[in-house]
Order: sequence, then structure tokens, then C-alpha cells
Amino acid sequence: MATINDNYLKLKAGYLFPEIARRVNAFAQANPDANIIRLGIGDVTEPLPEACRTAMIKAVEEMGDRTTFRGYGPEQGYAWLREKIAAHDFQARGCDISADEIFVSDGSKCDCGNILDIFGDTNTIAVTDPVYPVYVDTNVMAGHTGEANERGEYAGLVYLPISADNHFTAQIPSEKVDLIYLCFPNNPTGATATKEHLQAWVDYARANGSIIFFDAAYEAFITDPSLPHSIFEIEGARDCAIEFRSFSKNAGFTGTRCAFTVVPKTLTAKAADGSDVELWALWNRRQSTKFNGVSYIVQRGAEAVYSEAGQAQIKALVAFYLENARIIREQLTAAGIAVYGGVNAPYVWVKTPDGLSSWDFFDKLLHTCNVVGTPGSGFGAAGEGYFRISAFNSRENVEEAMRRITETFNAHSALN
Ligand SMILES: *Cc1c(COP(=O)(O)O)cnc(C)c1O
Repeated sequence: MATINDNYLKLKAGYLFPEIARRVNAFAQANPDANIIRLGIGDVTEPLPEACRTAMIKAVEEMGDRTTFRGYGPEQGYAWLREKIAAHDFQARGCDISADEIFVSDGSKCDCGNILDIFGDTNTIAVTDPVYPVYVDTNVMAGHTGEANERGEYAGLVYLPISADNHFTAQIPSEKVDLIYLCFPNNPTGATATKEHLQAWVDYARANGSIIFFDAAYEAFITDPSLPHSIFEIEGARDCAIEFRSFSKNAGFTGTRCAFTVVPKTLTAKAADGSDVELWALWNRRQSTKFNGVSYIVQRGAEAVYSEAGQAQIKALVAFYLENARIIREQLTAAGIAVYGGVNAPYVWVKTPDGLSSWDFFDKLLHTCNVVGTPGSGFGAAGEGYFRISAFNSRENVEEAMRRITETFNAHSALN
């Protein structure tokens, strides 16, 4: 008799986005004329940069000609793309990262999950609370946790609470953990990390033989020149960190699919016999065995991000979303609502007014303003009392949503 991976039964049934959809659909059915604005989903809305489209069209033509046709490419990605990534994203920022330490993939979400293939199953794992749910669920699937309690916390994980009190940056744990997930600029809170904060994590990781998984999917949104874009800007990170990057949010590749993972050759972890093993070799083996590379066409599209035109176009895209974020921050603040993030990130993290729960605020926004956001409690127990508003939308929708919210909350504070 075939059996299943029972760890899947521990997963809390993908509650957040289905529950949002259920409430929005019920409201839309009861109010068919309502013009609902969705500021809930972490997906981009603006079209692909022209430089990327042009490069991909050219690549399609090459595929149609016997002399320039390409079959399987290197599993790790084409050298011309890896070299551009290493030079532009790392060496230009003073990071000692070489092209062969870059592994091109079809997404950061899969990389974040797949990386667990090369790690043992007795590691102690730390995540922040609230957190990007992929880090938690992939560990549940891999059998690294026990059951979830009524707060949705899995036994065996170390949760590091983040809130306004610690500026949404976790305190370095007093206990020893082996794997640590960090995401800056953060989804969902929009918080960023200073060099000093990341240095403290790197020092901790080196002292404890831990590995940091650094998710920098939103690095392009950093406008403050003092903030690090990569963990490899931090002294010692080559000995303790793996970085995940993606073209999804900077170049609008969420539907095109291209990302990369950086594994330094100097990074090691322990084998069962106590010896040190290079993680680069294991990840290289894992990718060569289970992955056959990203399409040639898409890699040409990603390469164009690094052209002069591509750079100008992605800067304009990011600036567009950041202006949306600025409008959201400004309008909500004017309505007397406390907001965080949204300066070096496309997410504004809202403190729900009047002590409303995350879901009560969700319902209030949906019913009175016809605006959809994401309840903070869906990202973890410590997200209760917060709410995520995404800047990924048209200017028109953002302005209209903010007009409705300020109208509602200004009228409401006038009553009090
Ligand atoms: C969007 C996002 C990614 C990127 O995922 P892709 O699979 O590359 O599209 C990674 N991490 C976080 C936290 C994200 O929000």
C-alpha cells in the first residue's frame, strides 16, 4: 500500500488567501455594484520592461533558426547571465562573490524550499513572527517540526517576535539555532536591516556554526544609501550565509520566472561524522540532478535587466511602486492610522486602529471602503493587530483606495 508524507497533514490548510477570497467573494455577491480595490496580493501589476521584452523576442527568433537554436543549457544558468549578476549585484557593491557562486533558477520561492534538501533534519530552525509563510511550510513538509498549536505555531521551530517595539527586527536569540531565515526588506512588514543589525546576525551565526538564509527579493526597493542590499556586504557572511534573489519584484518577472541563489564556496556545514562539507558542492549536485535550468529565452530577458536601458526601466518601475507606497503612508497617517515600512519596501504595515483585530479591520475596510488588504495575523501570531497594504497596483487604484479610507477614518475620528 502506498503511503504519503504525513508531514503534509500537519500543515494548517492554506488558510490566509483562501479565507480572504471567501470573504471578498461573499461581499461581492451581496454587493454586485461595489468597485472592490485589491491591495492585498504581493504580485506586481505593471508590464515587463521593454528591454526584457526585446531581448526575449530576439531569443525566440534565435530558437527558430537551426544555427542559433539552444537545447538544454547549464543547470546553473548561462555564464553570461551569472557573470552579469556577480559583477552588477555583488562586485559593484564590494561583495566578494564570483559568477560560479550564482545559481540561476525559476524562482526564489522554490529555492527557499529546495535548499532544505541539502540540510539535515535535526537542525534547530528560527523564523521571525510574522514571517513569509513559505519558510515555515517547507520545513513542516520536510518533517522538521511537530504539530501546530492553536496559535498556528509549530512545535520545534524557534519564533522570533517582531513588532513596533523592536522596529520589526528580531532580537538575536539567546539560545543556539542552526538555520535562521531573514528577509530584508521584509515581507510582510516592509522593515529594513542596517549593516549593524546584519553584522550582529553574522557574528552570531559564525560563533554558533549557524547558516543564515537571507531573502533579498525586495533589495531593489532600498533607497536609503546606508542600507545593505546583500548580506555579503557584511564582514564574515561568506562563512555563514546563503542569499536568495529574484527578478520577480524588481523587473516584474512574477509570471516570467527567473531568480538566483548565491552559495559561497567557502560555506560549510557538518556531516554526521563531524567533518566539514562544502554546501556549494551539495547545492550544485542537487540542482544538476533535480533541475534542468531556466529557459534560454527567460535568461536573455533577465540579462537585459543589466543593460543600460534595462537598469533605467527597472528603476522607473520600482520608483512607481515606491511612490504608491508613499501615498499610502501619507494618506493613512493623515487619517490618524500608524504605519510602518513602505519607504524602502513595497509593503506598508499598518497598526489596526481602535484596537481592532486584523480580521475585524479587514472586514471593516472591505465593507466600508471596498478595499482589500491582508490581515497581519495571517503571517503569524505576532502579526495580530497589524495589516499589510501592498503598493503593487495602479496609481488610480491606490489614490481611490486612500480617498475612501481617509474619508471613513476622518469622519470616524470626528465622531469620537
Ligand atoms: C515575492 C517573494 C519572493 C520571490 O519569489 P519568486 O518565486 O522568485 O517569484 C521571495 N521571497 C519573498 C519574501 C517574496 O515576497
